[in-house]
Amino acid sequence: MKKIFAVFAVFMATVAVATAAEGFCLVQGHKSRGRIVVGANCGADSVAAALLQKFVDRISGARLPIISGVRPAKGDVAIGDFQLPVDGFDKKDIKPGGFRISTLGGTLRIVGNSDRSSVYGVAELLERYLGVEYLGAGEYTFTPSRDIVFPAIDITDNPAFSYRQIPSYMSREDAVYKLWHRLETPDDVFAGGYWVHTFDHLLPSDVYGKEHPEYYSWFRGKRNPGKASQWCLTNDEVFEIVSARIDSIFRANPGSKIISVSQNDGNYTNCQCEKCKAIDDYEGSPSGSLIRFLNKLASRFPDKQFSTLAYLYTMHPPKHTRPLPNVNIMLCDIDCDREVSLTENASGRDFVKALTGWSAISDNIYVWDYAINFDNYLSPFPNFHILQPNIRLFRDNHVTMHHCQMSSSLGTNFCELRSWLAAKLMWNPDADVDALMHRFLNGYYGAAAPYLYRYIKMMEGALLGSGSRLWIYDSPVTFKEGMLRPELLTRYAELVDSAEKAVAGDDKLQKRVRRERLTLQYSELEILRTRRESAPSDAAAKLSLFESRVNEFGVTTLNERNNSPQEYCALYRQRFMPSAMPGKSLGAQVTFIEPPTGKYVVMGESGALTDGLFGGSTFVESWVGWEGKDGSLTVDLGEQKEFTSVSTDFLHQLGAWILLPQEVNYSISVDGTHYTAFGGYSLPEDRSPQVKYVAFSYNSTSPVTARYIRVDVKGVVTCPEWHYGVGHPCWFFMDEITVE
Ligand SMILES: [Zn+2]
Repeated sequence: MKKIFAVFAVFMATVAVATAAEGFCLVQGHKSRGRIVVGANCGADSVAAALLQKFVDRISGARLPIISGVRPAKGDVAIGDFQLPVDGFDKKDIKPGGFRISTLGGTLRIVGNSDRSSVYGVAELLERYLGVEYLGAGEYTFTPSRDIVFPAIDITDNPAFSYRQIPSYMSREDAVYKLWHRLETPDDVFAGGYWVHTFDHLLPSDVYGKEHPEYYSWFRGKRNPGKASQWCLTNDEVFEIVSARIDSIFRANPGSKIISVSQNDGNYTNCQCEKCKAIDDYEGSPSGSLIRFLNKLASRFPDKQFSTLAYLYTMHPPKHTRPLPNVNIMLCDIDCDREVSLTENASGRDFVKALTGWSAISDNIYVWDYAINFDNYLSPFPNFHILQPNIRLFRDNHVTMHHCQMSSSLGTNFCELRSWLAAKLMWNPDADVDALMHRFLNGYYGAAAPYLYRYIKMMEGALLGSGSRLWIYDSPVTFKEGMLRPELLTRYAELVDSAEKAVAGDDKLQKRVRRERLTLQYSELEILRTRRESAPSDAAAKLSLFESRVNEFGVTTLNERNNSPQEYCALYRQRFMPSAMPGKSLGAQVTFIEPPTGKYVVMGESGALTDGLFGGSTFVESWVGWEGKDGSLTVDLGEQKEFTSVSTDFLHQLGAWILLPQEVNYSISVDGTHYTAFGGYSLPEDRSPQVKYVAFSYNSTSPVTARYIRVDVKGVVTCPEWHYGVGHPCWFFMDEITVE
């Protein structure tokens, strides 16, 4: 055994010596030594050639000529599929999306086997051999050199997933970034942009709903046509109309092979008519009727792929029906917590059960994962430690397409690092995460890197140590006794201070560090507004600094609903700034007549409505909610007081099924028994996707005196047809009742 090993070692050494001698010289003394030859008919190869030309020029000052229609010679770079018979060179090991780079035979060949993969090969060449790091949108580093010489190269590199999607702002703003990191977008692949939640696009309820309510879901005793309702999947006419529509979409997009036929966004809206329900009961999941419908489509169009969602009510697979091979299962783990990997907490384990279930009956799975806080983009999101185990889990369970939603907006917590790292792991789930993190931090933040690394690790430890969950709709307030405790915020700030100091004098790097500090600033402001003891001047100074920084960096949005930071700052001044003059209702006792729902009764009775603190943009703190009904309560001011205005505050957040009430009426009483009307306020329907707070205020022209105030709220009660929750109870959320 020992001897064999020794022989092998000698053989390896010989190969190394021989290949090093065959190094490939592209530029010498700033002068190009070869040409870039591209295949005659491939757009991606031309893009790859231009990318190589550009970076070689930047590095060495030499401009390589790009030519096509000729046979590459020794010393040329050949990009694309040329018939150049060379011993040992073939394409059999290149998988979809992969590439081979080789200097065998004296030509530097870069060849891929799908649309864009020769570009990926060029990016690999530049990154691995010339040290170019492409870190952000238009942000890259390289070392200038008079010569460009490659060692002998012969590598084949294949991705773990054939499709990789990270919808970062960098990909949106910089086409090169997207290509460099080998990312794709649905438009690249899905016919006519039909990618997700397509039911209403394929069978619009405003076209068919009125005349054919039977095409849509039956639940809660009736058919519910609506933009967010689902289909009656056992209705044959639905199948025929949708088939015809799909046929025409594919005809209009002859290059596309896949289309999404997938449920509208929303839960509990699936059809429960007798026929659909019988199938779903037999299959043990509402995915039963869905997959049978998809299989019918897949049989009718056998050369096409049909992607459908396994999401919310369809997350778990059917017991009996197997998806056909050309049915793609798009599985979403939206409900999972992210403080630990998916195999380690209860919500994750439920998803893993769904994943392994689908994996047992399909090897055509697309996983949609989340690494973002949708309601508070600037919240910390310490999940770097779970990226790798989750991505490996997907790879090991027949996932071929992977989408991770993250980094969608500038200013979100370590968004450049997050996207860069996830892209590397989507290509190679076994890469060394820690080494990659150091590499990125050093490249992007320079001398600030060690402090930021410690900051990331400290917060990760604090999250795990606190035992708290990490949810994609949290608020920083959720963590104010955990990973965002004052003692920890102080230490994070010290590390970011040190990071800033380490790059003092370098404007570009300091800006990047300061952009990362926004997370801490935002967290502090959010937590500050929940503490009555905060000094007004302190809050004002922190808010001003935050405002000037978001303006300086061009941060455009704070959440999925596109609320701007400027709007946030204005509202903060108006609602949250600690006031020197407390209202007359501060600390007043609230008694419910039509009480809130569930846990909100206790919250309401223990003072949330009269504590002088306003709820923030998520319903997870301070807000008191009523579901599917009107609300009514009285406020006892403790003694008769004189006032002119009564105001209550409501939250508008359609994504969480929280709709503003239709009407609020106030009446007043001196004895708590006999009430007289004080005033009222009504509001038209609001379909805006943005998160809002709306005050229902009534101001009387002359002061009144009373001890009791009654508040009657008329809610919307049921989600309307245009809403995701069509036909289901909706909420209204109330906070601070202010009497002045
Ligand atoms: Zn039905």
